[in-house]
Amino acid sequence: MRPRIGITSWLRDDSDGLERWAAVRDTYAGAIRTAGGLPVVLPVADGDPGVIAEYLGAVEGLLLPGGGDVAPAYYGEARDERCEEPDRERDFFEIHLARAALEGRTPILGICRGLQVLNVVGGGTLYQDVACRPGTSPQHAASREDRRKPIHPVHILPGTRLHAIMGVSESLVTSTHHQFVKDLAPGFRITAESPEDGAVEGIENPAHPFLVAVQWHPERMYQDHPEHLALFRALVAAAKEMRG
Ligand code: MN
Repeated sequence: MRPRIGITSWLRDDSDGLERWAAVRDTYAGAIRTAGGLPVVLPVADGDPGVIAEYLGAVEGLLLPGGGDVAPAYYGEARDERCEEPDRERDFFEIHLARAALEGRTPILGICRGLQVLNVVGGGTLYQDVACRPGTSPQHAASREDRRKPIHPVHILPGTRLHAIMGVSESLVTSTHHQFVKDLAPGFRITAESPEDGAVEGIENPAHPFLVAVQWHPERMYQDHPEHLALFRALVAAAKEMRG
């Protein structure tokens, strides 16, 4: 049996507004399948700790995908006008699920917003917009049309789990984010940086069995770049190991 990897979704309005979809980009599911895992979509739940515990019990690993901005209230800040209007249901669900996965030691891969969720859950903070971080290259926020295009380099730090997984020290990556790690969560470490401006591009928690997160989008690169497929393979391998 393939290890089951839960992928969080968000609620997207139907065109007539009468119903909502549990939405998740299929590229994430494709990456998990290609890496040998079984993708399982997790519809947004209301934060009931019992339901969240059962979601985690139904999977061996978790993928927190990209998306909109986390509500700054979760890291104790007022919302800047350049920060997007939060999706309260998704925030509540993902924050509680990620916290349970962090404490329950479920293997977890965070991508883009997923990295930001994990830093916040761990007790860190974010820059709410590129303009809040002076000297940051505008390249991080590629246009929608350019979202599959490797656009800026990252330096992957030696000695990190990320470096062991990817097996490279430099990579050119996709980038569609306008927020950044400000204060790193206690106990986490930085695993990748943008060499141009020092922006954090990867974090991990070495005390956790597998908590790895990147600010770029490996699900848009895995088909042509094996070092990015390796991230999904590593998650699936950790999930398999947890199952025993
Ligand atoms: Mn970037």
